[in-house]
Amino acid sequence: MYDILCVDDTQANLLVLESLFEVHGDRYNIFTASSGHEALGILLNQSIDLILLDVMMPQLDGFETAQLIKENKKTKNIPIIFLTAKRDNETIQNAFNYGVDYLSKPYDEFELFTRVDVHLKLVESQKQLNEQIIFNQSVLDSQHSIIFIQDNNGLVTTNKSFFNFFNVESIAEFNEKHNCVSDLFMEYENYFSLHVLNNNIQWCDELSSSYDDIEYNILIMDTKIFEPKAFRINVSGIDNTDKFIVSLTDITQLTTRSKQFETKATYDALTNIFNRSKFNELISEHYNLYKRYKKPLSFAIFDIDFFKKVNDTYGHVIGDETLITFTKTIDEATRDTDIFARWGGEEFVLLMPETKIDEAKIAVEHLRVLIDKTHFKEVNKITCSIGVTQFKNNDTIDDILIRSDEALYEAKSSGRNKVCVK
Ligand SMILES: [Mg+2]
Repeated sequence: MYDILCVDDTQANLLVLESLFEVHGDRYNIFTASSGHEALGILLNQSIDLILLDVMMPQLDGFETAQLIKENKKTKNIPIIFLTAKRDNETIQNAFNYGVDYLSKPYDEFELFTRVDVHLKLVESQKQLNEQIIFNQSVLDSQHSIIFIQDNNGLVTTNKSFFNFFNVESIAEFNEKHNCVSDLFMEYENYFSLHVLNNNIQWCDELSSSYDDIEYNILIMDTKIFEPKAFRINVSGIDNTDKFIVSLTDITQLTTRSKQFETKATYDALTNIFNRSKFNELISEHYNLYKRYKKPLSFAIFDIDFFKKVNDTYGHVIGDETLITFTKTIDEATRDTDIFARWGGEEFVLLMPETKIDEAKIAVEHLRVLIDKTHFKEVNKITCSIGVTQFKNNDTIDDILIRSDEALYEAKSSGRNKVCVK
C-alpha cells in the first residue's frame, strides 16, 4: 500500500483524484491537502510515498511548496508530480527543476497511473539500494580487520577500523594527509613495501596476482602509540571493475610472540649469547661441513675457576654479573665466524670454524690472558681453564666433547688458569 498526497486548492480537483484512486483502493491510500501549508503539515506527521502537486495555488504556490519539501531532509526524496494546466516552457522547466515530473491538466487517467507507478518503482529500488548499502557498510564495520576498497584514483570505501587506526574521520581527511595507503608501508626485512615493486606495476595488481600460497605482511606505524604494527595483507580484484578490496589483519602480537619464543629457544636468558640447544644445532651444521669438505674445525670448552667461591662469597647477584662480564669480554674478542655459547653454569663453549688446532690454541690462550687481566666488579679478578681440540678423522661430536673435557680436566688438575690441548 502506497501513501499518496494530493494537493490542490480546488476542492473539485481533489474529489476527482480521490475517486480515481478509490478504484485501486487496495493499492493506494490517499491523503488530501487544499494548500501548500496544509500539505507541509501532513508531511511532518505522515510518511508519504508520492505527491501530486497543483502549481497554481494562493499563498504558497506549487513550486514554492516543492522547494520547501526538497529542503527538508526527511521529505527531500519523495517524488513530486506537478499537475498543471499551464504548458509554457518556463512552467515545464520549473516542474523538472523542483520536482521529478509533470502532468498537464486535463490529464489522462492511464497516463497518471503509469507515471505514478514508475516513480513508486524508482523509489522502491532506491530504497532497496540504500538498504543494501547500509547492510554492506555494517558488514564491513563489524570486521575487526581494516578493510578498504581501492581503485586507480585512491580510496573508494573504508570501514570503521580503517578510520580508527589511521585516526581520521573521513576518506577526504585521509587524502589530505596521505597520497595512498601504500605510502605508509614501512621498509623492513621481509615485509612488503613499495620499494620492492617494479616501476610499472601497481601494488594492488602485484599483491592480488600473486600465487595463493604466498602471504604478504606489511608494517605500518601506529601514530597513536608510535609503534609499528604488523598486518597480514590480502588484496583481491573485484570482478568487472578496476577496484580492489584490501584487508589488513593485525598480526603484531603473533609476530612478537613468535619472536619472543625464538629468542627463548636460541639465547641464554642471563648472558644473551647462544644457549646449549642452539649451540647443538650449530655444531651439527658445522660438523656436516667438516665431514663433507674436511675443513678444519676446532672446539674449546671454558670453565671459570673457583666460581662456586664467587657465589658463596659475594652472592648470586654478583655471581651473575661476573658471568655477564666474562661472556661480554670473550664474545667481543672472538671472530665473527666463531660461535660462542653458554654450556651451563660457569661452563662455556667456543666453536672455531676454519681453524686448525695451532691457531685455536693461540686464540683461546689470548682469551685466557684477557680474562686474567679483566677487572670484575666486587670480585676483582677471576681466571678460567680451557680445554681445546680439533675434529680429526672419524670423530663424532661426542668424541670431541669427551676429548675437550679431558683437556679441561688436565688444565684444572695442573693448576688452573691455563689452556690444555688434546
Ligand atoms: Mg489551483
